[in-house]
Amino acid sequence: MASYFEARCNKCGEEFTISSGHGFYSYKIKCEDCGNVKSIKTNKRTYEVSFNDFTEDEIGVCECGGKFSIEAKDRCPKCKSLDIKIDEGSVYSID
Ligand SMILES: [Zn+2]
Ligand SMILES: [Zn+2]
Repeated sequence: MASYFEARCNKCGEEFTISSGHGFYSYKIKCEDCGNVKSIKTNKRTYEVSFNDFTEDEIGVCECGGKFSIEAKDRCPKCKSLDIKIDEGSVYSID
């Protein structure tokens, strides 16, 4: 189950939505440099797989040249700042 939070950038004021958690069959990884999110489709449930189960080809490299990781921090999609405020009260779930 993926959860979504509303967030706001403290630098440029951009309002955006960030997701946490994975879909049932899509494993989410994030670029360490720009915060770009990539979903890897898997035919197992995502709680049964871990980052190390994917090959380098599946993980790939972000278009910015950055590395994808499971622990990368959320960034503002506009200015890439890490200085964001997440509204924890705004959580909603899809999937
Ligand atoms: Zn990137
Ligand atoms: Zn920003």
